[in-house]
Amino acid sequence: MSTANDCPSDPRQPPLEVEAALATLLTQAQPLAGRETLATESALGRVLAVPVLAGVDLPGWDNSAMDGYALRHADLGPGGARLRVSQRITAGRVGTPLAPVSAARIFTGAPLPPGADTVVVQEVCRCEGDWVEIPAGIILGANIRRRGEDLRAGTQVLAAGTLLEPQHLGLAAAVGAARLTLHPRLRVAVLASGDELVPPGEPLGPGQIYNSNRYLLFGLLQRLGCEVLDLGQVPDQLAATRTALAAAATQADLILTSGGVSVGEEDHIRPAVAQLGRLDLWQVAMRPGKPLAFGHIGATPVIGSPGNPVSLFVTFVLFARPFIRRLQGMAEAGAPRQISARAGFALARPPKRRDYQRARLGRDTAGAPVVEVFPSQSSAALTSLTWADGLVQLDAGRRIAPGDPVAFIPFSELLD
Ligand code: AMP
Ligand code: MG
Repeated sequence: MSTANDCPSDPRQPPLEVEAALATLLTQAQPLAGRETLATESALGRVLAVPVLAGVDLPGWDNSAMDGYALRHADLGPGGARLRVSQRITAGRVGTPLAPVSAARIFTGAPLPPGADTVVVQEVCRCEGDWVEIPAGIILGANIRRRGEDLRAGTQVLAAGTLLEPQHLGLAAAVGAARLTLHPRLRVAVLASGDELVPPGEPLGPGQIYNSNRYLLFGLLQRLGCEVLDLGQVPDQLAATRTALAAAATQADLILTSGGVSVGEEDHIRPAVAQLGRLDLWQVAMRPGKPLAFGHIGATPVIGSPGNPVSLFVTFVLFARPFIRRLQGMAEAGAPRQISARAGFALARPPKRRDYQRARLGRDTAGAPVVEVFPSQSSAALTSLTWADGLVQLDAGRRIAPGDPVAFIPFSELLD
């Protein structure tokens, strides 16, 4: 049982600063054990567990970068040359050694025939039957891609911990990797707490609201490639909350909950986690999202986000997302990149805690980046999230006047 001295659950303890809270989570984020091997085309969005080494040189041989004529530069005079076209080499075919004082018709990607050292693009040549006229001024070695100039066989092309984007799959395939060894897919249990919640599609009774957090969390998790285990809703009762969490801990790699982490007597997630396991952290010096809770039930981590949808969203992208990326085996992800911009708004009262306002990046008349904020910064206002394309990070204790420098974090840095 937690006591008043049991520091993370003591409401009198000062909340942790954002960076310290994130560090607390990340030091406890262990990549999942186990490996899975999949066909390369099925590995999008997964994290590579074993590096990919090139099985071949890229390119595999000296080849033509253009459609044109391959020749010996020494055959060209000061005014160019008129050469017989002695062979035709298309992509996928291999030519024969270049006949003396001749040119080979060649196409992009086709291997350079032995003896040729230069390719002249067809646009500058004049072709008459079996002859081609080459202009003056051709540079030795032009328009040739050299064997291995992109990479050499045996080189590591993808490191373990790489989050696989389309370009990584393309490169893996280019070096001949048909299958990839991956970290396992993360199974995340989602649980919404609150007596007031009703699924969309059902009539709302007095005092009831639709359970939007379920949809928000499902979407956020799916974007990160997680398998979502839907644990539905749990009423505001300690016993029911404990039962639901205990069951979730046996099925999932991670549990995410919404609501029930504040200080009210109807908030049962935090005490339930403390009773079933341990609470590692509670309360972060931020707005929205202060009551964020983090703990473990057995070996299963639990992240408890506050129920207000904007708080849930902000705590997810700032804490759950980097935590999940580590569990998925992703190498050091680094902090989301911020864009330096000017405030297009004022903040007369300095925030008491780090403030993440819902914001949009635009440009002033000179083309410089300017941040606007949504008029309502209520943590219940989901419309602020659909209006915004990012968050502006405002430090505690700092007033903002229009034109002051601010840090904008685009959603693109927070959602994938
Ligand atoms: P709580 O964190 O449980 O105190 O909830 C804070 C606010 O968020 C309350 O107004 C709740 O009604 C609301 N809320 C809690 N859970 C959800 C949910 N799943 N979907 C939408 N709103 C919610
Ligand atoms: Mg509640």
